[in-house]
Amino acid sequence: MELAGGDCLNAGCVPSKALLRCAKLVREARKAASRQNEFGVFFTKRGESEVLDLDVGVDFAKVMQRMRRLRSSIAPVDGHARGVSIGSQVFQGRGVFTSPYTIEVVEDGKKLGDANNPVLRFRKAVIATGGRPTIPDVKGLVSAPYATNLNLFNLQSLPERMVVLGAGIVALEMAQAFAAFGSKVTVLQRSKLLSGDVEAGKVIRETLEQDGVQFLDEVIVKEVETLRSRGSDGELPLMRVGLTHKGNSQLTSLECECLLVAIGRTANVQNMGLESANISYHPTQGVLINDYAQSISHPNVYAVGDCVAHVPRLTHMSGEMAKVVVQNSLFGGEWRMSTLVVPAVMYTDPEYAVVRKVVTIDTNGNVVPSPKLSAEEVDVYRAELRSNDRAILDSSDTNGYVKISCIKGTGTIVSCTIVSSRAGEMINEVSLAIKNGIDIMGLGRNVHAYPTLGEGVMSCGLQFIGARWKKMNEGG
Ligand SMILES: Cc1cc2nc3c(=O)[nH]c(=O)nc-3n(C[C@H](O)[C@H](O)[C@H](O)COP(=O)(O)OP(=O)(O)OC[C@H]3O[C@@H](n4cnc5c(N)ncnc54)[C@H](O)[C@@H]3O)c2cc1C
Repeated sequence: MELAGGDCLNAGCVPSKALLRCAKLVREARKAASRQNEFGVFFTKRGESEVLDLDVGVDFAKVMQRMRRLRSSIAPVDGHARGVSIGSQVFQGRGVFTSPYTIEVVEDGKKLGDANNPVLRFRKAVIATGGRPTIPDVKGLVSAPYATNLNLFNLQSLPERMVVLGAGIVALEMAQAFAAFGSKVTVLQRSKLLSGDVEAGKVIRETLEQDGVQFLDEVIVKEVETLRSRGSDGELPLMRVGLTHKGNSQLTSLECECLLVAIGRTANVQNMGLESANISYHPTQGVLINDYAQSISHPNVYAVGDCVAHVPRLTHMSGEMAKVVVQNSLFGGEWRMSTLVVPAVMYTDPEYAVVRKVVTIDTNGNVVPSPKLSAEEVDVYRAELRSNDRAILDSSDTNGYVKISCIKGTGTIVSCTIVSSRAGEMINEVSLAIKNGIDIMGLGRNVHAYPTLGEGVMSCGLQFIGARWKKMNEGG
């Protein structure tokens, strides 16, 4: 039986961010220790004045203990007890559609069609079954003791060597965290970092490399050999990963105690009887929906979150879609998916944040990802954080930036990318602007507290205003 709270609470955002907090502390402490002359902060034995040349130690068991404690403290909000207390009826088991208006609950240890399985009849239903890690078809992998986000947070000891398959958000966050804790981390990437955002990928990669993470590019993983299984006492397994590089068929290999598979997510839409209910779906991407988050083939069934095709797989996206569905299914609302402006953040240090309208509607009325405008269709306003006073005072964000794209010749914002230690906080202002039709001039005229990294957003707006003044001056 799976725990209430889904991926975010149990094996996603919550545990990963708890680990990243400890990793950040380690990196900051190391920075202080190694740059004593710059910061004037040093370590001594209590009561003594001798300056010690120290490294920072990590007690991995305590890091994990802290994560579990904090996760439990957040858990009640997502627990079944709360659902029941606010009027829900909870059935525990696997929900399977058996007709367009019935769902059978298959409890643990039972089969579909067992006499005592509860059968629920509905007028409206919402599918919110989430996703699972995608596992590539690699020889020996399925039988190997590899890790995914589902079991990574159960580790009891720190792997000496970690190989990360994939270079997306989950992969890079965990690569940085485990490198800070002391693992020798190698990231295997098949193509480009961060879905091809070359500029941000370069900054993030350089920082991770400084942290000791090694990147192997254009790698094809051929096989995984299990050299030692996971011990019942928590002993880590040992694996050999065989790989080739693009254009070179020679097999090389890497050994590791932890092989983290993080190449993407597959929607949970299989074995749920969607065919019996006439609910259209893509086998890996998920349920196909329209602008109102309704199934395109069954108007009384809605779908939200990671089980839906073509929407970003993020907790706040699932939450926002849940609001859309409540409004549209129960209160006759007209809340449209195509109006959603959704930020996405990678919580490495520096953080990487992007925001834009995430979905659009195709000619059949179905939700599809919003196309990105080409470089010729936009004007770009950019602020380098190395000249931001807060970044200078913090000795941070040397390579960080804020980049805002507007429809060419106008101040209408279409997207924003931020690379900064605070990108996740800074991006929300730009989301608000896009959502409410505030143009880039509005960001330039919004008074920002000094000194803050957020002034980088304002700087982009001031560039737009400056360009207009220049044009007016030239009589344009
Ligand atoms: C390591 C990691 C870190 C992440 N960090 C972030 C982050 O920092 N910020 C962010 O926004 N997002 C993050 N995400 C993504 C986020 O976790 C997901 O987008 C979010 O959990 C999706 O929520 P959901 O409700 O759609 O699905 P889930 O949270 O996956 O919930 C689906 C639920 O449905 C249940 N279920 C499945 N099939 C059935 C069935 N047939 N019958 C009944 N129940 C079923 C599952 O057991 C589960 O409880 C992260 C993901 C990972 C893996």
